[in-house]
Amino acid sequence: MATCEVCGNDYDDVLTIEKGGESHVFDSFECAIHALAPTCEHCGCRVIGHGIRAGDRTFCCAHCARESGVEGVADAA
Ligand SMILES: [Zn+2]
Ligand SMILES: [Zn+2]
Repeated sequence: MATCEVCGNDYDDVLTIEKGGESHVFDSFECAIHALAPTCEHCGCRVIGHGIRAGDRTFCCAHCARESGVEGVADAA
């Protein structure tokens, strides 16, 4: 039994995700995404795929990166 650190739900089949040397416990992917996924700088959606990294900026897709003025990006094939 463990407690989701996002919603506080007690759950016995938890997800444990390690990130940056810290261990996080969640009851669902939804809560894990809420806590850990970066946010697209252009449209504000959660980046749950590979996304596009441009320096220290993160976008959900090449379209958003280009709309924000990042040159030379393409979606991964
Ligand atoms: Zn939760
Ligand atoms: Zn986006």
